[in-house]
Amino acid sequence: MLNSLKGRSVIVTGGSKGIGRGIARVFARAGVKLTIVARNQAEIDGVVAEMNAAGATARGAACDVTDMNAVQRMVDEAAEAQGGLDVMCANAGIFPQVKMVDMSADDWDHVMATNLRSTFFCVKAAIPHFEKRGKGRVIVTSSITGPVTGYPGWSHYGASKAGQLGFIKTAAMELARYNTTINAVMPGNIRTEGLEGLGEDYLQTMANSIPLKRLGDVEDIGNAALFFASDEAAYITGQQIIVDGGQILPE
Ligand code: NDP
Repeated sequence: MLNSLKGRSVIVTGGSKGIGRGIARVFARAGVKLTIVARNQAEIDGVVAEMNAAGATARGAACDVTDMNAVQRMVDEAAEAQGGLDVMCANAGIFPQVKMVDMSADDWDHVMATNLRSTFFCVKAAIPHFEKRGKGRVIVTSSITGPVTGYPGWSHYGASKAGQLGFIKTAAMELARYNTTINAVMPGNIRTEGLEGLGEDYLQTMANSIPLKRLGDVEDIGNAALFFASDEAAYITGQQIIVDGGQILPE
């Protein structure tokens, strides 16, 4: 799989931290050309240096994925710099916790715009490049929260993550004519910088409730994304895979 991806042109949104950084790391080891997308330029620069050291030819792009025109520009520039586009990882997302009684319309819209509308923008912007290439791959980072489970304070988040799975079904049918597949990875509890603040005891309790007795690593998600991007996954589209250490299995 690693060999089949060497030299491919890849975009990872939300690549400056957490799961996106893990996805980028796994693709970097495969020797791809990589564009790291986020808003914070300083964080992007740090990750670009890390990815170049890991084997990628990496560049950064500061872009707010809620802005359709900015996403189109970002994708066109990445394709120009990297000699086309092979893989779009639509991963950027936010998860502010707000109970419904306190949630404003703006709270709802902001999460939907960042998590769901941006997925549509990223795919739409990539289509002309996949058409030119005669093939393409999209990997969407969804979640188990929403499609499978719920969590207080995450009604908007859960709806956005379930919405992504609804989106990829029809997207898969429309993208097939460009020889392009689209699939989703659904992470469980993944150990990211954001979780560190919860403290080691809390994280260990979380880990103990998971059959595989650990939180997911960001590269566990990267490995699933890499599979969907590989030649070996050429006949899989409109599907999703749960990567959660068995978290959602019944006791
Ligand atoms: P992080 O907060 O660690 O990273 C989020 C990334 O998205 C950052 O790079 C951030 O950079 C970027 N981002 C956020 N908003 C925007 C925006 N408007 N435009 C461009 N980039 C943006 O999150 P995680 O790594 O934890 O989450 C990544 C994805 O994984 C999300 O879609 C999330 O729903 C999903 N997920 C995470 C789980 C977990 O356990 N962590 C579990 C299940 C799913 P910047 O702020 O600079 O823009």
